[in-house]
Amino acid sequence: MIELVSEDRCITCGLCVRVCPTNVFDSDDNGLPVIARQEDCQTCFMCEAHCPADALYVAHHADEKVEVEEADLIARGLLGSWRATIGFGSHGAVSMAATDTTPILRTMRASIQSERSV
Ligand code: SF4
Ligand code: SF4
Repeated sequence: MIELVSEDRCITCGLCVRVCPTNVFDSDDNGLPVIARQEDCQTCFMCEAHCPADALYVAHHADEKVEVEEADLIARGLLGSWRATIGFGSHGAVSMAATDTTPILRTMRASIQSERSV
């Protein structure tokens, strides 16, 4: 469930408001997203995945609210970690496809790299 919007990090791009499939956010007069309907959150992580400022935190608990502290999330490296994991991050993130060691994917990757080097 969405638990945090970091006012310090948010650049008021409005992406989270637009991508949320259940209209959880409103925007305040300054364009800052406000968690207005937390109970409608589907824990889909779309907002966190798209936030370019790593300003959102969605907890894994889908059915209950969790108390979080921004400083603690930062200290634990959790703000932006989901974006990095799925390759959406901008901080040297590596996509899951690139790190997948499933044999068929490894073979396909080697084949593509070989073709590119010709
Ligand atoms: S996790 Fe999904 S449903 Fe919940 S606020 Fe973010 S985009 Fe909306
Ligand atoms: S996507 Fe991130 S930076 Fe953009 S409005 Fe939402 S919280 Fe702020």
